[in-house]
Amino acid sequence: TQRLTLFDLPLDNITLDATLDRLGDWIYRAPRAPHTVVTLNPEFIVQSRTQPDFVTAMQVADLVTADGVGIVWAARQLCAQEVPRAPGFDIVQGLMKRHGADLRVFFLGAKPGVAEVAAQNAARDYGIQVAGIHHGYFDLPEDQRVAELVRDSGADLLLTAMGAGRQETFNQYWRQVMNTPVMIGCGGVIDVLAG
Ligand code: UDP
Repeated sequence: TQRLTLFDLPLDNITLDATLDRLGDWIYRAPRAPHTVVTLNPEFIVQSRTQPDFVTAMQVADLVTADGVGIVWAARQLCAQEVPRAPGFDIVQGLMKRHGADLRVFFLGAKPGVAEVAAQNAARDYGIQVAGIHHGYFDLPEDQRVAELVRDSGADLLLTAMGAGRQETFNQYWRQVMNTPVMIGCGGVIDVLAG
């Protein structure tokens, strides 16, 4: 995959299908190793200017996709490249459709009660296994406890939906502890899955 640079941030020129192939490979390859995925959008670029740990989390991510047309446009203007969209919601839904009951998903984020509904709906619609659930409103001193919950769940896929920056820095900081094959920051995806 070709990796571009956009405002000092990485952007991978990868289709949704190729993204799903790669994440599937990470999930089912032994031994398990942690990987972080970022779905880049313009808000991330602006916000990360004043948040160096957010920049780092994106720079060291294993995969950075274009979440929407804003990034596709920027890559065209600044890098003269046609980068396809691979939005967070499509990645999450695509993985659940492809792998169904072979996928153990941890739902981390959104307001208390919402991730429970999202998990129920996803289990019903895609047949996925629910590895764990936790809301997204906790303070930094609780991060380690939550990261250990994710580690102990044995999840294949961690959905971290705690807002731009917070979700990416959490995934990056705790990646070795959580050791989840795919950890993806995915904004409003838990709210959307909850309907
Ligand atoms: N969220 C969270 N913890 C927080 C802030 C936000 O779990 O401290 C959740 C929020 O409930 C929503 C998702 O993160 O489900 C995205 O929130 P928002 O759209 O406000 O964040 P943005 O992506 O715009 O930064």
